[in-house]
Amino acid sequence: MHRERTEGVQNYDANYAKHILKKGRRFKDQGAGGSGGNFAGLDEDEPEMQLGDWEDASRKKLTAGKQRERQGKGKGGKFGAGGKGGKGGDVPKNLQTCPHCLESVRFAYGSRGNIVHQTENIYIALENPKIALLPGEMIIATVDHSAAPCVNECDENVYDDIMAAMRRVKAYFNSGGGKGGSGNKESRKAVVFLEQITEIPSRERQTLGAGPHCVVRCFPIEPSMLAETRSMFRESLVDLDAEDEFSRVHQSAKPTRPGEGVQGPARQGGRGHVAKRFPYLWMDFNLEGGLVHPVDSKDRFRRDWAKGVLCGALDLDFLTNNAYKDDGEWNAALADVKRGFGV
Ligand SMILES: [Zn+2]
Repeated sequence: MHRERTEGVQNYDANYAKHILKKGRRFKDQGAGGSGGNFAGLDEDEPEMQLGDWEDASRKKLTAGKQRERQGKGKGGKFGAGGKGGKGGDVPKNLQTCPHCLESVRFAYGSRGNIVHQTENIYIALENPKIALLPGEMIIATVDHSAAPCVNECDENVYDDIMAAMRRVKAYFNSGGGKGGSGNKESRKAVVFLEQITEIPSRERQTLGAGPHCVVRCFPIEPSMLAETRSMFRESLVDLDAEDEFSRVHQSAKPTRPGEGVQGPARQGGRGHVAKRFPYLWMDFNLEGGLVHPVDSKDRFRRDWAKGVLCGALDLDFLTNNAYKDDGEWNAALADVKRGFGV
């Protein structure tokens, strides 16, 4: 397994190098052009969004004002941590440091054995204790970062795997977890799935590893809170739209049918719930139907907007809430998920 992975990296690097050679200056020029600004709003906390050294050229072309604006956001990690001297100077640091890429040096779900299910296209992992808002919280992530930045852009087979993974996660929670398979009534949970993408890289930059990793977050909640959580999300979107010209014109949240997912009718050749290459917010409530909302402005939807609404609905303190009291609780949660997923 290890050997396979290592070879995979080498192949990837080789392919990447070839790609760079082929594209040559054209690629560099594109990076230095207007598209550089696409990433101005990416969050400093998300190492996967740190762009590679090959982006440096575009940064230099930013106006001084924009640079100041970015740096003024504090934390300073975005540019500082990216560092210099990637392999050949052009390898995208974004992939090497992405917490969701299996081959990344910063892969965050490997050392503690969080992965409980994997196919060639996706994996399911227990969220890490520092990030998790709720006990048992999981993520579904794609294996190939550069293939698609979000579920709406995924190829058919990857999309099928994501939907199947969502059904598995739902089954685990709805049945009361891994406790011997039967589950008890008190431990049964409903699950809210969330995906938020606020910027989509150009296809070319995406192929080279720019942009975010495709991740669906899975929040287990009390079944009795499902309806209220759903209406809180709907109302929050309505409130947001009321203040916004774009949304008044372009309609707000579109409902998805039970089990359908974000691509919706697009899978049968119809129109999708949100246009391709357009950022969006997608939530699904226990696969009983959901909402998709296009994101026209990254400023309106801060990265943690959905998390904030969820905390409001569940009456959790956004800043201080910890899913686990200690490592022991997290380990117990992992053991239960593993039992539930048969690993
Ligand atoms: Zn990644």
